[in-house]
Amino acid sequence: MDPADMGDDLERVLLTEAQLGARLDELAEQIDADYAGKELLVVGVLKGAVMVMADLVRRLHSTVQMDWMAVSSYGSGTKSSGVVRILKDLDTDLTGRHVLIVEDIIDSGLTLSWLLANLRSRGPESVEIATMLRKPEAAKVDVDVRYVGFDIPNEFVVGYGLDYAEKYRNLPFVGTLAPHVYSH
Ligand code: 5GP
Ligand code: MG
Ligand code: MG
Repeated sequence: MDPADMGDDLERVLLTEAQLGARLDELAEQIDADYAGKELLVVGVLKGAVMVMADLVRRLHSTVQMDWMAVSSYGSGTKSSGVVRILKDLDTDLTGRHVLIVEDIIDSGLTLSWLLANLRSRGPESVEIATMLRKPEAAKVDVDVRYVGFDIPNEFVVGYGLDYAEKYRNLPFVGTLAPHVYSH
């Protein structure tokens, strides 16, 4: 999707495609080093993490396994409901596995705390988290996030997998929407 196709819906670009890619290069290098000699299971959280998952695993030099989970914590609006539901569970047994959860964004951290507890209860060897974006609120949550792409301001963002009412996920960058988009 090209920003030119957004009319006046886009307010501003926060992170360009090039910035996202350059940061992923660094994170992939770190992950390769940290998991050298280990078998890694990368778990993407649908749907938002699709872009970061695809772009991250292609940068890794080691062979990894990929699995997906879908949880629901937001409605179609911009506010967290605080309620987490599993919509699609993993196909993989986590017993003894090194697991890396890949997230699009950590906002309140509610989804992540819940997900961590849930996956840890399945007997993995280790569970770590990689997120492309993190908002200030997330700092309040006592969760150790090993890999963070960018800390961003407390604004609602779209693009690079993130939606507003299921739209804008296919933007190759991260941006904010003009206020008029939310008001109808
Ligand atoms: P949390 O539970 O950390 O508050 O938020 C988890 C989920 O809420 C994210 O995975 C994402 O789907 C959604 N979310 C949080 N902040 C934003 C945002 O700024 N933009 C969009 N599009 N989704 C967000
Ligand atoms: Mg997510
Ligand atoms: Mg959403």
